[in-house]
Amino acid sequence: MAHSHYDVLIIGGGTGGIMTAAQLHRKDNKLRIAVMDPSKDHWYQPAWTLVAAGTFDMKDTRRDEASVIPPGVDHVKEYAATFEPEANTVRTREGNAYTYGHLVVAPGIQMNIDDLPGLREALQTDHVCSNYIDPEKTLRVMKAFKGGVAVFTQPSTPIKCGGAPQKAAYMADEFFRKSGVRTKTKLVFATPGSMIFGVQPFRAALEDVIRKKEIIFKAFYDPVRIDPVKKEIHFKWSKPGDNHCALTEEQGLPEKIEGERTIVMKYDMLHLAPPQSAPDFVRNSPLSYAEGPNKGWLEVDIHTLQHTRYVNIFGLGDAAALPTAKTGAAIRKQAPVVVANILQRIKDGALSKNEYSGYSSCPLVTGYGKMLLAEFKYDNVRDSDPLLSRLFDTGKPLWSMWVLKKYMLPWLYWNRMLKGAM
Ligand SMILES: Cc1cc2nc3c(=O)[nH]c(=O)nc-3n(C[C@H](O)[C@H](O)[C@H](O)COP(=O)(O)OP(=O)(O)OC[C@H]3O[C@@H](n4cnc5c(N)ncnc54)[C@H](O)[C@@H]3O)c2cc1C
Repeated sequence: MAHSHYDVLIIGGGTGGIMTAAQLHRKDNKLRIAVMDPSKDHWYQPAWTLVAAGTFDMKDTRRDEASVIPPGVDHVKEYAATFEPEANTVRTREGNAYTYGHLVVAPGIQMNIDDLPGLREALQTDHVCSNYIDPEKTLRVMKAFKGGVAVFTQPSTPIKCGGAPQKAAYMADEFFRKSGVRTKTKLVFATPGSMIFGVQPFRAALEDVIRKKEIIFKAFYDPVRIDPVKKEIHFKWSKPGDNHCALTEEQGLPEKIEGERTIVMKYDMLHLAPPQSAPDFVRNSPLSYAEGPNKGWLEVDIHTLQHTRYVNIFGLGDAAALPTAKTGAAIRKQAPVVVANILQRIKDGALSKNEYSGYSSCPLVTGYGKMLLAEFKYDNVRDSDPLLSRLFDTGKPLWSMWVLKKYMLPWLYWNRMLKGAM
């Protein structure tokens, strides 16, 4: 039965919310803790890349939300609607009010499909797909693809798992080789950014992957519109201070320049990550940045994860304004910091000595049986696990890392991480 006051109220029962709840409950089972989440489902999203490539079952990425709530923690099956931080209160869409001693905000990220004109209609067609929305459709689209131009792209907004769009392209390359259409295909990876990956030596390794796979890499291509009838995607040339985009004729792509900064490219298949933001109820709340580059994202200190204006509020996961990649791997290092800080504050009002260094990792599958584990922290500094690095050359795609991704990490997620055991 739900109470109306909790020592710790956690908004969101995804990766961040459940890891935090489980670790808190293990450390102090007298605390009255609730996870608020109206969803019936809990998803293991990192395996969606494998689902799209036909090598993992979608149903194995889902559990009932109720089944992952730690025993002894309440599940409030309601949708958080408004925050009243001065009154330590959260109001729900269902019309209830909950008060708290400490609040943890972890509601994930929101897909803003309508922020890219034409995307909603394009997703209704048989040629456009997204691993972020329906990885099983990506597989259907790839199976039906008979050759032509396959475009993979991503938006200029922050996205969860920034590596996922390029992983989709690498897996498509191998899929098309197996299905016999790769020789009839121009495979394009177009990004608003300037490079494939920000951290060395992973960038060099991925540039090598792209070269060997003969993927056509397009930098400064920011998707701004899709015309699903003409099967065209419009990009804005996004190179700072450069108004004149030039096309590379010898690539032989069906693309043309319109005006000064628009490139129009025809596609036969299109995969993309939609524009993303913090959920509206966070964006429009007093808890988010009102201005600046982090506008709309949850305002927390990047090391303590404590809200910068409300001392009894903490945030983690995709919704938080943290200058690192938004991944479950990052959350594994964030949750212990949130937990230690809340427990210390309950004890004596201070913060613990634990700090988050910005650790995140991107398991970049580069083909069937190949994965490069890019681990890094704030300021794009490599932060590879010392033990793994001693055993393997983690700067390169490896079969052992693929085994980690496909078999070990899902098991660890359901059986250890969500139980607060690591
Ligand atoms: C295609 C893809 C590939 C990925 N690959 C990887 C990978 O290889 N490795 C990796 O580490 N990460 C990967 N990720 C990213 C990872 O899944 C996310 O970073 C992680 O799940 C974020 O956790 P979270 O708790 O912030 O949000 P989520 O896990 O998304 O959970 C948010 C929860 O909040 C709930 N919620 C939302 N609004 C409300 C509300 N108003 N009230 C109450 N509850 C609410 C939702 O129902 C949901 O249960 C991938 C993601 C995708 C989509």
